[in-house]
Amino acid sequence: AKTSGRNAVRFFDPAMQAVLVVRMMLESNLRIALALNQFQLYYQVQVNADGQLIGAEALLRWIHPDRGFISPAEFIPLAEETGLIVPIGLWVMDTACAQLKLWEAQADTRHLSLAVNVSAKQFKQADFVDTISHIVHKHQIDASRLKIELTESTILDNVDATTEKMHQLKKLGIAFSMDDFGTGYSSLAYLQRLPLNQLKIDQSFVRDINLDENDATIVRAIIALGINLGLNVIAEGVETAAQRSFLIENHCYSFQGYLFSKPIPAEAFQALIAMHKTL
Ligand code: C2E
Ligand code: CA
Ligand code: CA
Ligand code: CA
Repeated sequence: AKTSGRNAVRFFDPAMQAVLVVRMMLESNLRIALALNQFQLYYQVQVNADGQLIGAEALLRWIHPDRGFISPAEFIPLAEETGLIVPIGLWVMDTACAQLKLWEAQADTRHLSLAVNVSAKQFKQADFVDTISHIVHKHQIDASRLKIELTESTILDNVDATTEKMHQLKKLGIAFSMDDFGTGYSSLAYLQRLPLNQLKIDQSFVRDINLDENDATIVRAIIALGINLGLNVIAEGVETAAQRSFLIENHCYSFQGYLFSKPIPAEAFQALIAMHKTL
């Protein structure tokens, strides 16, 4: 069998087959999850330097009847590969907008924005703009409360087509944040052309901000870049007061992370809005 090449041998590798079987099961379970409403959205607060609530990020949770919580890090990559991210992403957007409408009716949300993650495959759908427009109108939400988080790789994949779509969505009032910023290959040339509102510093740079001079330097550079481009800069994964202080000293005034709150269910977030307290 060795002479028939590496790939042929690999195909019959029992370990490899086990991986394939697990993937197939996960895929069919994902379809079932969608059909049986096993998904839920959690919301993680975003705050300013005064600790006031400025918004939230919607984060997908899969509550499996046997396995309990399954992290999106586990199933989003497969959902992207199989295309299931398209209907799942639709559910996410629809649910987030319905939630926004509900909050609007129950408290003053004019100062809040809701960020929704959109994956590359989803954003690339030819009818993406129409679909979002339809959802926004269906729920009669103020579209300027809505922010779409895209990663660098999503945007870079086809800069011209992406920019065009972003402009169309911007006309509806929707804002854009570039997620996981610093981990990709952004160039100044196109950053300037994109209709972005926010850069989100990836948590991998924030983690050791007070310990690692390289990370500190990168974060300072990202903040300076954002300010120079006229963008809001938000840091994710803020876990300690020392990280928050570093960020403030370096002119980043928007934060998200466990220091303020873990992602929480809709009702808990609703209670936070109603309380109007600082975090
Ligand atoms: P992300 O967009 O970078 O989201 C931030 C992740 O960091 C979340 O993980 C969040 O729970 C976690 N996090 C927040 N604060 C802290 C902190 O202080 N420390 C640490 N260590 N982690 C923190 P989560 O919820 O497990 O989501 C993982 C990823 O899955 C997200 O990364 C995003 O890429 C993807 N994802 C989640 N929901 C959706 C969705 O609705 N659609 C799509 N396409 N992707 C999603
Ligand atoms: Ca995100
Ligand atoms: Ca992120
Ligand atoms: Ca991330």
